Order: sequence, then C-alpha cells, then structure tokens
Amino acid sequence: MARHVNIPVFIPNLGCPYKCVFCDQREISGSKFSLSDVRETISKALSTVEPDAEREIAFFGGSFTGIGDRLMTSLLDIAQEFISGGEIGSIRLSTRPDMIDAHILGILSRYSVRTIELGIQSVDDRVLSASNRGHAAAVSYEACRMVREYGFDLVGQMMIGLPESTPASERETAEMICRSGAVGARIYPAVVLRGTEMERMSGAGEYSPVTVEDAVSRSADLIEIFDRHGVAVLRVGLCASDGLSEGDAVGGAYHPAFGEMARGEVFRRRIEERLEALGAYGASRADIFVPKGAVSAAIGQRRANAEALRSKFNINTLKIIENPQLIGYNINVSLSAQEK
Ligand code: SF4
Repeated sequence: MARHVNIPVFIPNLGCPYKCVFCDQREISGSKFSLSDVRETISKALSTVEPDAEREIAFFGGSFTGIGDRLMTSLLDIAQEFISGGEIGSIRLSTRPDMIDAHILGILSRYSVRTIELGIQSVDDRVLSASNRGHAAAVSYEACRMVREYGFDLVGQMMIGLPESTPASERETAEMICRSGAVGARIYPAVVLRGTEMERMSGAGEYSPVTVEDAVSRSADLIEIFDRHGVAVLRVGLCASDGLSEGDAVGGAYHPAFGEMARGEVFRRRIEERLEALGAYGASRADIFVPKGAVSAAIGQRRANAEALRSKFNINTLKIIENPQLIGYNINVSLSAQEK
C-alpha cells in the first residue's frame, strides 16, 4: 500500500474572533500570509516526497472554513491546480464545528476535498463553556453528521485535561467521535501555554492542569476506545510542527515523547493482562512479541514498562521483540519455565 503523506499548509488564524482559554493566538497577531507562498510551500514539500506516495494537501493551523469564502476558495483553487497536474491526490482541512454549514460544505464539495478534521475538543457543555470555546456540544454533533452526509471523511480532534474535564467526559467524547463514523482521531492533552487565559486560571487556582502521568493514562483509555471501533489515531500529543517549543509550555501535559508514552501505556496494559491470564508469576523468561515499530513504545521510557512488568511478575528475563505479522496493539507472549 502506498504511504500516505500530508503536505501541510499552515493557515494563520486570521481574525479569529474566539478566545479559547488554551490558545495563545500567536498566529493571529502580525501573521503575514500570501497566496504565492502557499504555491511555493506545496511545490517545495512535493520535491521531498517519494514518487509513489499517496499525497494530500492539508490545510491545518487555523479554522479553514472561517477565513472567508474568498480566501478559502483561492487556497482551494491552488490545491486543485496541483490535483489537476496529478501531483496531489486530495485535500484535507481542519476547522471548528461551528464553521460547518450547508453553504461551506457546498463549496468544499466542488473541490477534491476528501477529509474534514473537526476540532470537537469535548462533548461536555461544561468543558466547552469553561474553555470559552464559543459553542455547545450540539453544534459538534450536527457538524459531524453533516460532514458525513456530504460524503467527506471525518476526523475528530479532541483534548484532554481542559477545565471541568473528567476522564469520563473524555471517554464520552471519544465514543461520540466513533459513533459519528469518523475514520480517524487526534488526541491533544491540554498544555498550559505562556500568556493564555489558562495560565491565569491556573495561577489563580481556578484550574488544575493535568499532569503528564495522568494525561498518558487518560490518553491510553481513549486510544483503546478508538482501537476497539477501528478508528485510526493519527496523533497523540503536540509536536514541534504544532509550533510549540518547550519554553512555551508552562504547565500541563507537555512532553516531547507524549505520543509514544501513551501508546506504550496501551501496550503495558495489554502485556500485563496477558501475563496475568497466563499466570506468568515466577516464569524464568517471557518473550513478548509486538508489532513492527512498537518495541520502543512497549518497553517504555527508560525501560519503565519492561521493568515494572518484570518486577510485578517476578520474571527473570523479559524481552520485547518485534513481530511484523502483528498489527495495531496486538501482542503475543511466550513463557519459559526454565531459561535456556
Ligand atoms: S483555538 Fe480558539 S481562539 Fe485559538 S485560534 Fe482556534 S478558535 Fe481561535
């Protein structure tokens, strides 16, 4: 299967009228944006992509459908040029649920837009209100329904650890994304950025930021929900391309390896479950097989998972080994009573 590559085009948050408590709105002030730069950005990115990759232009970074029809269609026209030239297969964009309606979806339908990512964040109205998100959960339900009705692929983006958020409301948000027929999801733990309302709230004792450890466990719960429903988790945690450097984070769940830690927690749980079921206590050796590319996540940061499991089950030697035949979060365990 051809590798999927997103060609990201970051849209500044032009004139965003909202004031979400977690947003530092850096890109709103002083952002320069020119259409000719967009063409160049795409061409440059294309030159680094292998020829047989499945390529998609991804308008990320702002609320794409809230930038005004004129700019939106100009950007879509540029993307469509690359599609007509055979260099790009389709278009993906991210936006707010309250910036989806029949008029917008009608415009998007005229272009090769395949995927719409919605920043749902939470389906708990208390969380949306405390985060000053500017709309209620009902708007997200309707936006998801319409995106699917118009035949687009839906990706739900959600946050954990927002003000008033609980593990239960986060699980409900993930379930809602699955029920909406989404093909993918992104999980972003709340990070307190310098200069945000959330920083003030946290300083005033009105908000307790989620710790990295707690956020890892809550994200693992969500990954398990998405995995059960066959919804691909496209991202867990922020990364450098989200414009976040370590210095900007003053609290909350920021860790450069956050995604790997959350995936590692899912593997740790599954391995623990299997070892329990097999009655692995006191085994001389356990060989744990995990899918390709998952060894480092499964072993954990500084071997934390491997050591915790080895010590809990009193196993002499515990090895985590790649098995390319396994996929997703599937694992296999082989136990030896006596080490050879
Ligand atoms: S996160 Fe909220 S405030 Fe920030 S750009 Fe998006 S909609 Fe605007």
